[in-house]
Amino acid sequence: MSIEQTLSIVKPDGVEKNVIGECFRRFEKGGLKIIATKMIHMDRAKAEGFYAVHKERPFFDSLVQFMTRGPVVVSVLEGENAIAKNREIMGATNPEAAAEGTIRKDFASNIEENTVHGSDGPDTAKFEISYFFETNEIFSR
Ligand code: ADP
Ligand code: MG
Repeated sequence: MSIEQTLSIVKPDGVEKNVIGECFRRFEKGGLKIIATKMIHMDRAKAEGFYAVHKERPFFDSLVQFMTRGPVVVSVLEGENAIAKNREIMGATNPEAAAEGTIRKDFASNIEENTVHGSDGPDTAKFEISYFFETNEIFSR
């Protein structure tokens, strides 16, 4: 166990569904601290760069289209095992497979519009945090 930081995104469908606060409440209830946050509207290049690892996947264009259709809330979460903890709070990628009580089970529309993003490991967390935040925008506590 160690204190980690991870990147969270409330995706455009989450903002549209008015569940930003509900997502934040679940992060905090799960022991994670929001140490940086902002609302942004990504352009195509920004979303393509963020999801570059998926650029060969058949759903890439659709995913980029979805992620740029409206604003998102990007945050840095900090806490004990924050990367795995956040993914536990989020639930499985496909909401049909997501556990009861998870964000995706409760709010996702489908496997694409699944309400939240969370980094999947220490290296991606580092890259993803730096993709959206300067060090002086992050308030580790
Ligand atoms: P996760 O967000 O759970 O880490 P992935 O990294 O595999 O999932 O995929 C990134 C995002 O791409 C997903 O959250 C979802 O929005 C979208 N996605 C994944 N698989 C599919 C799919 N089969 N069809 C459409 N969109 C998908
Ligand atoms: Mg992923």
